[in-house]
Amino acid sequence: MGWWSVSAGIPRAPLEAVPPIPPVPERREELSGWGLHPVETCRVFRPEGLEELQGLVANTRHSLVARGLGRSYGDAALNPEGVLLAGRLDRLLGFEPTTGLLHCEAGVSLAEIIEVFLPRGFWFPVTPGSKHVSVGGAIAADVHGKNHHRSGSMSAFVEDFLMVLGSGEAVACSREQNPEIFWATFGGMGLTGVVVEARLRLRSIETAYMNVEVNRARDLDSILELSQGDSGFEYAVAWIDCMASGRSLGRSVLLRANHAGLGDLPAARAAAPFAAAPVLQPQVPFTMPNALLNSWTVRAFNEGFYRFHSDGAKLQSCEAYFYVLDRVKGWNQVYGRRGLLQYQLWLPFETAREGLVELLETFAGQRRASFLAVLKSFGPASEGLLSFPGPGFTLSLDLPYSGPDLAAVLRRLDQGVARRGGRVYLAKDACLEPECFAEMYPGASRFREVKAEIDPEEGRFASSQARRLGLVESD
Ligand SMILES: Cc1cc2nc3c(=O)[nH]c(=O)nc-3n(C[C@H](O)[C@H](O)[C@H](O)COP(=O)(O)OP(=O)(O)OC[C@H]3O[C@@H](n4cnc5c(N)ncnc54)[C@H](O)[C@@H]3O)c2cc1C
Repeated sequence: MGWWSVSAGIPRAPLEAVPPIPPVPERREELSGWGLHPVETCRVFRPEGLEELQGLVANTRHSLVARGLGRSYGDAALNPEGVLLAGRLDRLLGFEPTTGLLHCEAGVSLAEIIEVFLPRGFWFPVTPGSKHVSVGGAIAADVHGKNHHRSGSMSAFVEDFLMVLGSGEAVACSREQNPEIFWATFGGMGLTGVVVEARLRLRSIETAYMNVEVNRARDLDSILELSQGDSGFEYAVAWIDCMASGRSLGRSVLLRANHAGLGDLPAARAAAPFAAAPVLQPQVPFTMPNALLNSWTVRAFNEGFYRFHSDGAKLQSCEAYFYVLDRVKGWNQVYGRRGLLQYQLWLPFETAREGLVELLETFAGQRRASFLAVLKSFGPASEGLLSFPGPGFTLSLDLPYSGPDLAAVLRRLDQGVARRGGRVYLAKDACLEPECFAEMYPGASRFREVKAEIDPEEGRFASSQARRLGLVESD
């Protein structure tokens, strides 16, 4: 295959190029995030390309928010007034193999990038636990992977992007050009504008395999000790059994890994180092009855997961190591029609133990069924004004949505997280309140100033989450 060349910089489209609004038929759809809660009926638009998008943004009377693949859990990509589907922004525009620099549109998914570039020896440098996220969504959430302690978040690998602002103008943003917009956009959850194209660096790898080391930890102290600092592994993730209590509170399985080199593969695999066996993908056939998920089934699952793993080393394909959850298509439907809330918090190292104990005890004590919880350690924060990670630990739990009582429990926990200097992840959030948000995200006041400068008076970009958090005015 021949490579395309990458242009020296993202081209800037002049404001004069904004065309009148195209005749886009109005459609309404019931939308939700990956958690299936809340569900909102939204006016949706699917612009075919940059010009149509600019026209829509410049000429509409409604507020808008971009939507990639809808893998944020709550209401970040919802807006009854207008949702811009990024599905047509799906082109790969250029690639430079010597540097790994990829130029693509923002609706391209990580899965598509991996499909094209893994066989050619390139990997996405920071990947979330699902590859079904778009480049635009990954920038807007400044996503992190299992290697944050080493590599940081998405922003560390993005050179620049092209963004449509509230006026309809398309501007190039980088560390040098419009740096304020650049850093407000990482973690900014689509509220600065619509990312249309980006140039980002892929990393080269020798094989499509990982050298994985498995360690079981009998309690929270053991797992925190094992997970802290850099142990020589580029990637690390721990699966915590959150039904365990008492002396076993926090017992977990830690999976640490490095990319395997050619010399690590048996001869048969070394002959075709990028031809890893496809991972089987069963599908949840329909939305399950809520009653199937209860503390007994979850306890059995957690117990089985812990016992299934034993200490030792193994070779695993990249897909199998990074995307455990993608193996079952539509796994969110296991939670029934009411869906789930994912609660992901970050706590600085100094307060993490105390905060994690409170959280795990809350859920073990309340018998609120959660499949395995995920623990990761983070390194230094990025400059993103609303970026989530900072040095410390992050824990995420999936909780079946049982109604306002669950939201009330989470809001109580939010206060503890804020008091301990931590925060919850906006890409997962569905019930954080404005006071706690302001305490958790000190960059929010600067974010508001930047947004006020680049968005017209009434604020073109808004989501249901932004209204709930007080980042934009509610109607
Ligand atoms: C199974 C699973 C595992 C996950 N694991 C991780 C993880 O390990 N680490 C992590 O960081 N996250 C993780 N996530 C969360 C996910 O990476 C983020 O929510 C990501 O933003 C989803 O991308 P998306 O394309 O689906 O965006 P959407 O959910 O559609 O949108 C998310 C936000 O991005 C904005 N947005 C989308 N496209 C654009 C655009 N073109 N321009 C401007 N704004 C845009 C939206 O307005 C919205 O605010 C996980 C999610 C799932 C379902």
